[in-house]
Amino acid sequence: MLLLTKRKFNYLKSTMMRNDLSERELTPFDIIWIKNITNSEYGSAYMNVDSEFVLHFPNRHCGNILKPQKGEIILLYQNINGHKVFTHLVTPVKDKIEEEGDRANFRYGRKVRVIAHTPIDDLIFVSDSLWSRVNFQGISQGNACEISHISKLGIFDDLLRDIWVRFTPFFKKDFSDSIRLVENISKEIDLNDPDFGVTEGKERLITHIARERNKEIVYKKKQQALKQGLLKCSVCEFSFIDSFGAEFIECHHVKPISESGETTTKLEDLELVCSNCHRMLHRKFEGHFLSICELKNRIIKYKLLQNKCKNEDR
Ligand SMILES: [Zn+2]
Ligand SMILES: [Zn+2]
Repeated sequence: MLLLTKRKFNYLKSTMMRNDLSERELTPFDIIWIKNITNSEYGSAYMNVDSEFVLHFPNRHCGNILKPQKGEIILLYQNINGHKVFTHLVTPVKDKIEEEGDRANFRYGRKVRVIAHTPIDDLIFVSDSLWSRVNFQGISQGNACEISHISKLGIFDDLLRDIWVRFTPFFKKDFSDSIRLVENISKEIDLNDPDFGVTEGKERLITHIARERNKEIVYKKKQQALKQGLLKCSVCEFSFIDSFGAEFIECHHVKPISESGETTTKLEDLELVCSNCHRMLHRKFEGHFLSICELKNRIIKYKLLQNKCKNEDR
Protein backbone atom coordinates (compact mmCIF):
# COMPACT_ATOMS: atom_id res chain seq x y z
CA MET A 1 0.00 0.00 0.00
CA LEU A 2 1.25 3.44 -0.82
CA LEU A 3 1.43 5.69 2.18
CA LEU A 4 1.48 9.37 1.39
CA THR A 5 2.60 11.51 4.29
CA LYS A 6 1.34 15.06 4.53
CA ARG A 7 4.80 16.41 3.80
CA LYS A 8 5.22 14.19 0.75
CA PHE A 9 1.78 15.21 -0.47
CA ASN A 10 2.60 18.90 -0.14
CA TYR A 11 5.88 18.33 -1.90
CA LEU A 12 4.19 16.57 -4.81
CA LYS A 13 1.54 19.26 -5.00
CA SER A 14 4.08 22.07 -5.17
CA THR A 15 6.15 20.17 -7.76
CA MET A 16 3.06 19.82 -9.90
CA MET A 17 2.27 23.49 -9.51
CA ARG A 18 5.76 24.42 -10.52
CA ASN A 19 5.62 22.42 -13.71
CA ASP A 20 2.11 23.36 -14.65
CA LEU A 21 1.83 27.11 -15.02
CA SER A 22 -1.92 26.87 -15.46
CA GLU A 23 -2.15 25.91 -11.78
CA ARG A 24 -0.86 29.24 -10.61
CA GLU A 25 -2.40 32.65 -10.59
CA LEU A 26 -1.36 35.12 -13.27
CA THR A 27 -1.55 38.88 -12.88
CA PRO A 28 -0.67 41.88 -15.09
CA PHE A 29 2.41 42.36 -12.92
CA ASP A 30 3.83 39.12 -14.29
CA ILE A 31 4.29 40.92 -17.64
CA ILE A 32 7.94 41.90 -17.38
CA TRP A 33 9.15 41.85 -21.00
CA ILE A 34 8.21 43.27 -24.38
CA LYS A 35 9.51 42.01 -27.73
CA ASN A 36 9.10 43.15 -31.31
CA ILE A 37 8.42 40.13 -33.54
CA THR A 38 7.75 41.96 -36.82
CA ASN A 39 8.47 39.79 -39.85
CA SER A 40 8.40 42.10 -42.88
CA GLU A 41 9.14 39.22 -45.24
CA TYR A 42 5.99 37.23 -44.37
CA GLY A 43 3.79 40.15 -43.28
CA SER A 44 3.04 38.64 -39.86
CA ALA A 45 4.72 36.36 -37.33
CA TYR A 46 3.59 33.39 -35.22
CA MET A 47 -0.08 33.91 -36.08
CA ASN A 48 -0.78 30.18 -36.63
CA VAL A 49 0.99 28.72 -33.62
CA ASP A 50 -0.17 25.98 -31.26
CA SER A 51 0.08 26.15 -27.49
CA GLU A 52 3.90 26.14 -27.65
CA PHE A 53 6.39 27.45 -30.18
CA VAL A 54 10.02 28.55 -30.52
CA LEU A 55 10.34 32.33 -30.23
CA HIS A 56 13.33 33.46 -32.27
CA PHE A 57 15.87 36.12 -31.37
CA PRO A 58 18.28 37.96 -33.68
CA ASN A 59 21.77 36.42 -33.51
CA ARG A 60 23.23 39.64 -32.10
CA HIS A 61 20.87 39.45 -29.11
CA CYS A 62 21.30 35.73 -28.43
CA GLY A 63 22.97 36.56 -25.10
CA ASN A 64 19.59 37.80 -23.83
CA ILE A 65 17.53 34.74 -24.73
CA LEU A 66 17.60 33.25 -21.23
CA LYS A 67 16.97 36.53 -19.40
CA PRO A 68 13.18 36.16 -19.16
CA GLN A 69 12.57 33.63 -16.42
CA LYS A 70 9.97 30.87 -16.34
CA GLY A 71 6.73 32.33 -15.02
CA GLU A 72 7.51 35.80 -16.37
CA ILE A 73 5.33 36.97 -19.23
CA ILE A 74 6.66 38.40 -22.51
CA LEU A 75 4.34 40.75 -24.40
CA LEU A 76 4.78 40.37 -28.18
CA TYR A 77 3.98 43.06 -30.73
CA GLN A 78 4.50 43.40 -34.45
CA ASN A 79 3.74 45.54 -37.48
CA ILE A 80 0.98 44.05 -39.62
CA ASN A 81 -0.08 46.01 -42.73
CA GLY A 82 1.55 49.12 -41.34
CA HIS A 83 -0.22 48.89 -37.98
CA LYS A 84 1.51 48.26 -34.69
CA VAL A 85 -0.44 45.49 -32.92
CA PHE A 86 -0.12 43.35 -29.80
CA THR A 87 -0.58 39.68 -30.67
CA HIS A 88 0.66 37.39 -27.87
CA LEU A 89 1.37 36.93 -24.20
CA VAL A 90 3.86 34.09 -23.78
CA THR A 91 6.06 32.61 -21.07
CA PRO A 92 9.28 30.58 -21.36
CA VAL A 93 8.93 26.85 -20.68
CA LYS A 94 12.58 25.79 -20.48
CA ASP A 95 15.89 27.32 -19.42
CA LYS A 96 17.39 26.22 -22.69
CA ILE A 97 18.37 27.89 -25.97
CA GLU A 98 16.94 26.20 -29.08
CA GLU A 99 19.08 26.30 -32.20
CA GLU A 100 17.73 26.06 -35.72
CA GLY A 101 20.61 26.01 -38.17
CA ASP A 102 18.59 26.80 -41.29
CA ARG A 103 17.65 30.29 -40.15
CA ALA A 104 20.32 32.82 -41.08
CA ASN A 105 19.86 35.84 -38.80
CA PHE A 106 17.43 34.35 -36.27
CA ARG A 107 19.25 31.16 -35.54
CA TYR A 108 18.47 30.87 -31.81
CA GLY A 109 15.26 30.88 -29.84
CA ARG A 110 13.38 29.95 -26.72
CA LYS A 111 10.50 27.53 -26.36
CA VAL A 112 7.52 29.50 -25.05
CA ARG A 113 3.99 28.68 -24.02
CA VAL A 114 1.09 30.77 -25.29
CA ILE A 115 -0.95 32.40 -22.52
CA ALA A 116 -3.02 34.60 -24.84
CA HIS A 117 -3.07 35.06 -28.60
CA THR A 118 -5.25 37.31 -30.75
CA PRO A 119 -6.66 36.03 -34.04
CA ILE A 120 -5.59 37.90 -37.20
CA ASP A 121 -9.08 39.42 -37.61
CA ASP A 122 -9.30 40.76 -34.05
CA LEU A 123 -6.00 42.52 -33.43
CA ILE A 124 -5.19 44.81 -30.50
CA PHE A 125 -4.03 48.11 -32.01
CA VAL A 126 -1.36 49.97 -30.07
CA SER A 127 -2.82 53.27 -31.29
CA ASP A 128 -6.17 52.50 -29.58
CA SER A 129 -4.53 51.73 -26.26
CA LEU A 130 -2.76 53.61 -23.51
CA TRP A 131 0.43 52.32 -25.12
CA SER A 132 0.15 54.97 -27.83
CA ARG A 133 1.92 57.21 -25.30
CA VAL A 134 4.93 54.89 -25.04
CA ASN A 135 8.08 55.48 -27.05
CA PHE A 136 8.73 52.17 -28.82
CA GLN A 137 12.03 53.50 -30.18
CA GLY A 138 13.67 52.33 -26.96
CA ILE A 139 12.94 48.69 -27.83
CA SER A 140 15.76 47.31 -29.93
CA GLN A 141 14.55 45.17 -32.84
CA GLY A 142 13.86 41.58 -31.89
CA ASN A 143 15.30 41.80 -28.40
CA ALA A 144 13.32 41.19 -25.21
CA CYS A 145 13.32 44.45 -23.23
CA GLU A 146 12.15 45.06 -19.70
CA ILE A 147 8.98 47.14 -19.82
CA SER A 148 10.04 49.09 -16.72
CA HIS A 149 12.95 50.48 -18.74
CA ILE A 150 10.87 51.98 -21.53
CA SER A 151 7.72 53.18 -19.81
CA LYS A 152 7.15 56.65 -18.46
CA LEU A 153 7.15 57.00 -14.73
CA GLY A 154 3.67 57.07 -13.28
CA ILE A 155 1.72 55.17 -15.95
CA PHE A 156 3.54 51.86 -15.71
CA ASP A 157 0.93 49.90 -13.77
CA ASP A 158 -1.85 51.44 -15.88
CA LEU A 159 -0.08 50.13 -19.00
CA LEU A 160 0.02 46.62 -17.60
CA ARG A 161 -3.61 46.73 -16.50
CA ASP A 162 -4.60 48.10 -19.93
CA ILE A 163 -2.88 45.28 -21.81
CA TRP A 164 -4.36 42.70 -19.41
CA VAL A 165 -7.91 43.91 -20.02
CA ARG A 166 -7.42 43.92 -23.80
CA PHE A 167 -6.03 40.38 -23.83
CA THR A 168 -8.73 39.02 -21.49
CA PRO A 169 -10.99 37.66 -24.29
CA PHE A 170 -8.02 35.81 -25.79
CA PHE A 171 -6.58 33.93 -22.82
CA LYS A 172 -6.05 30.24 -23.61
CA LYS A 173 -8.57 27.90 -22.00
CA ASP A 174 -6.02 26.14 -19.79
CA PHE A 175 -5.09 29.49 -18.25
CA SER A 176 -8.51 31.10 -17.94
CA ASP A 177 -9.10 29.80 -14.40
CA SER A 178 -5.85 31.23 -13.13
CA ILE A 179 -6.20 34.70 -14.64
CA ARG A 180 -6.61 37.34 -11.99
CA LEU A 181 -9.10 40.01 -12.86
CA VAL A 182 -7.69 43.49 -12.77
CA GLU A 183 -10.15 44.78 -10.15
CA ASN A 184 -8.86 42.33 -7.54
CA ILE A 185 -5.22 43.19 -7.99
CA SER A 186 -5.04 46.80 -6.89
CA LYS A 187 -6.41 45.71 -3.52
CA GLU A 188 -3.53 43.34 -2.98
CA ILE A 189 -0.64 45.65 -3.76
CA ASP A 190 -1.68 49.04 -2.50
CA LEU A 191 0.92 51.25 -4.09
CA ASN A 192 -0.39 54.32 -2.33
CA ASP A 193 0.31 52.72 1.02
CA PRO A 194 3.00 54.96 2.56
CA ASP A 195 4.62 51.86 4.04
CA PHE A 196 5.63 50.81 0.55
CA GLY A 197 8.59 52.68 -0.88
CA VAL A 198 6.69 54.38 -3.66
CA THR A 199 9.26 57.15 -3.91
CA GLU A 200 11.67 54.66 -5.47
CA GLY A 201 9.42 54.56 -8.52
CA LYS A 202 6.26 52.57 -8.89
CA GLU A 203 7.40 50.65 -11.94
CA ARG A 204 10.57 49.38 -10.31
CA LEU A 205 8.64 48.43 -7.19
CA ILE A 206 6.19 46.39 -9.26
CA THR A 207 9.03 44.61 -11.05
CA HIS A 208 10.62 44.00 -7.66
CA ILE A 209 7.44 42.52 -6.20
CA ALA A 210 6.83 40.43 -9.31
CA ARG A 211 10.34 39.01 -9.02
CA GLU A 212 9.85 38.17 -5.36
CA ARG A 213 6.65 36.39 -6.27
CA ASN A 214 8.06 34.42 -9.17
CA LYS A 215 6.86 31.00 -8.04
CA GLU A 216 9.67 29.18 -9.82
CA ILE A 217 12.58 30.84 -8.04
CA VAL A 218 10.77 31.13 -4.70
CA TYR A 219 10.15 27.39 -4.86
CA LYS A 220 13.85 26.70 -5.50
CA LYS A 221 14.89 28.99 -2.67
CA LYS A 222 12.50 27.30 -0.25
CA GLN A 223 13.61 23.81 -1.28
CA GLN A 224 17.24 24.82 -0.72
CA ALA A 225 16.38 26.08 2.78
CA LEU A 226 14.24 23.02 3.59
CA LYS A 227 17.10 20.70 2.64
CA GLN A 228 19.34 22.51 5.12
CA GLY A 229 16.53 22.58 7.68
CA LEU A 230 16.65 26.38 7.77
CA LEU A 231 13.20 27.53 6.74
CA LYS A 232 13.04 30.55 9.02
CA CYS A 233 13.13 34.32 8.83
CA SER A 234 16.68 35.52 8.27
CA VAL A 235 15.94 38.64 10.31
CA CYS A 236 14.04 37.46 13.42
CA GLU A 237 14.35 33.67 12.97
CA PHE A 238 10.58 33.21 13.11
CA SER A 239 9.59 29.75 11.86
CA PHE A 240 6.16 29.19 10.32
CA ILE A 241 6.73 25.45 10.67
CA ASP A 242 7.27 25.68 14.43
CA SER A 243 4.44 28.15 15.02
CA PHE A 244 1.80 27.11 12.49
CA GLY A 245 3.01 23.78 11.08
CA ALA A 246 3.15 25.41 7.65
CA GLU A 247 6.06 25.42 5.22
CA PHE A 248 5.42 29.08 4.58
CA ILE A 249 7.92 31.88 4.18
CA GLU A 250 8.24 34.99 2.01
CA CYS A 251 11.11 35.94 -0.26
CA HIS A 252 12.74 39.35 -0.27
CA HIS A 253 14.91 40.55 -3.13
CA VAL A 254 17.97 42.01 -1.41
CA LYS A 255 19.21 44.16 -4.30
CA PRO A 256 17.93 47.70 -3.76
CA ILE A 257 14.84 48.42 -5.83
CA SER A 258 16.63 51.24 -7.65
CA GLU A 259 19.35 48.85 -8.83
CA SER A 260 17.28 45.76 -9.54
CA GLY A 261 16.21 46.85 -13.03
CA GLU A 262 18.59 44.99 -15.31
CA THR A 263 19.41 41.99 -13.17
CA THR A 264 17.85 38.56 -13.37
CA THR A 265 17.04 36.94 -10.06
CA LYS A 266 19.59 34.52 -8.66
CA LEU A 267 18.95 32.39 -5.58
CA GLU A 268 21.50 34.39 -3.59
CA ASP A 269 19.59 37.61 -4.39
CA LEU A 270 16.70 36.33 -2.29
CA GLU A 271 16.44 36.17 1.48
CA LEU A 272 13.74 34.24 3.30
CA VAL A 273 11.83 36.47 5.67
CA CYS A 274 8.63 36.38 7.71
CA SER A 275 5.72 38.60 6.68
CA ASN A 276 6.34 41.16 9.43
CA CYS A 277 10.01 41.61 8.67
CA HIS A 278 9.27 41.69 4.94
CA ARG A 279 6.84 44.52 5.47
CA MET A 280 9.47 46.44 7.44
CA LEU A 281 12.07 45.86 4.71
CA HIS A 282 9.75 47.65 2.27
CA ARG A 283 9.25 50.55 4.63
CA LYS A 284 11.56 53.52 4.89
CA PHE A 285 13.19 54.36 8.23
CA GLU A 286 14.66 57.86 8.46
CA GLY A 287 14.45 58.14 4.69
CA HIS A 288 16.00 54.86 3.62
CA PHE A 289 15.29 51.15 3.31
CA LEU A 290 17.03 48.88 5.79
CA SER A 291 19.15 45.90 4.82
CA ILE A 292 18.57 42.52 6.47
CA CYS A 293 21.48 43.26 8.80
CA GLU A 294 20.26 46.75 9.70
CA LEU A 295 16.77 45.46 10.48
CA LYS A 296 18.28 42.73 12.65
CA ASN A 297 20.25 45.35 14.57
CA ARG A 298 17.16 47.49 14.95
CA ILE A 299 15.27 44.59 16.57
CA ILE A 300 18.15 43.99 18.97
CA LYS A 301 18.33 47.69 19.80
CA TYR A 302 14.60 47.91 20.58
CA LYS A 303 14.65 44.71 22.62
CA LEU A 304 17.45 46.14 24.75
CA LEU A 305 15.54 49.41 25.09
CA GLN A 306 12.40 47.56 26.20
CA ASN A 307 14.30 45.49 28.75
CA LYS A 308 15.90 48.65 30.09
CA CYS A 309 12.47 50.28 30.49
CA LYS A 310 11.09 47.19 32.25
CA ASN A 311 14.02 47.16 34.66
CA GLU A 312 13.58 50.85 35.41
CA ASP A 313 9.85 50.32 36.07
CA ARG A 314 10.63 47.76 38.73
ZN1 LIG B 1 11.07 38.02 10.69
ZN1 LIG C 1 10.66 42.40 -0.55
